[in-house]
Amino acid sequence: MFMSDQKEKAAPISIKAFLKKTIHQLKMAGIEHPRLEAEVLLAHFFNIDRLQLYTLWEKELGESEIKKFQALVSRRIGHEPLAYILGKREFWSLDFLVTPQVLIPRPETEFVVEAVLAHVSDGALIIDVGTGCGIIAVCLARERPKSRIYAVDLCEGALQIARFNAIRYKVNNQITFLRADLLSCFSPHSVDCLAANPPYIPTREIFTLAPEIYNFEPHSALDGGENGLECIKNLIGEAGRTLKPGGWLIMEVGYGQKDLLVEEIQKQKMYVRKLISDYSGIDRVIVSQK
Ligand code: GLN
Repeated sequence: MFMSDQKEKAAPISIKAFLKKTIHQLKMAGIEHPRLEAEVLLAHFFNIDRLQLYTLWEKELGESEIKKFQALVSRRIGHEPLAYILGKREFWSLDFLVTPQVLIPRPETEFVVEAVLAHVSDGALIIDVGTGCGIIAVCLARERPKSRIYAVDLCEGALQIARFNAIRYKVNNQITFLRADLLSCFSPHSVDCLAANPPYIPTREIFTLAPEIYNFEPHSALDGGENGLECIKNLIGEAGRTLKPGGWLIMEVGYGQKDLLVEEIQKQKMYVRKLISDYSGIDRVIVSQK
């Protein structure tokens, strides 16, 4: 085994053969879509798109390229999420910079953006609470050019990434980045819309998450305390205080949390206007109004 490995290193290897080897390695590591991921990694390595790989089928890789590429594959074999290895994830058809300091954007969060666009008019003052890499703030800024948007996060590292993404899409002048815990710095009845994807996983379930999530994504962005409701309940309380009459709270929530949260919202004298379910039929976004 050792001997043949040595031989393989010395001999040039075509992209085609290398892809095959990578697919096998990823498969053995239990990666769900080994071919797709191997292709994405190789294309990223050569800075080309996936289809172009097939035009380079017979190109031979040198030893140093093999070593460098193998280092990327090893990270994926160690279950580091592909988005962190590539340094990006697509959301709302835009590429966002992501690092392990921020949660990787999930497709469900597009329902939050859609709901804001459906209910809140251009020019409204909107706050993205817990902005992470800035997806909600940046997408809303692009879609609502007259709105002033605040992107709030407790983590300075996340704010830097959100700022980078805003600059990249030329909406940085429209967004104010604030390091704060929820909405402590906003005055009562001053806000038209709060949009958020708060941490909502119950603490006791965090360790049951896939290694990609548990070992790599920031727990502060996932852990919603007991029952997963701590942060969301605080957010609802703050919404009651900071929203103008008629203002909107639009947030993503966790599996099975809807009933309890609807009660919490009503306690704040707010009305639930819509429940949006995700691709698996789970109530995922609550749209409520003061
Ligand atoms: N708003 C960001 C997102 O939706 C970050 C959310 C978070 O950190 N909980 O991905």
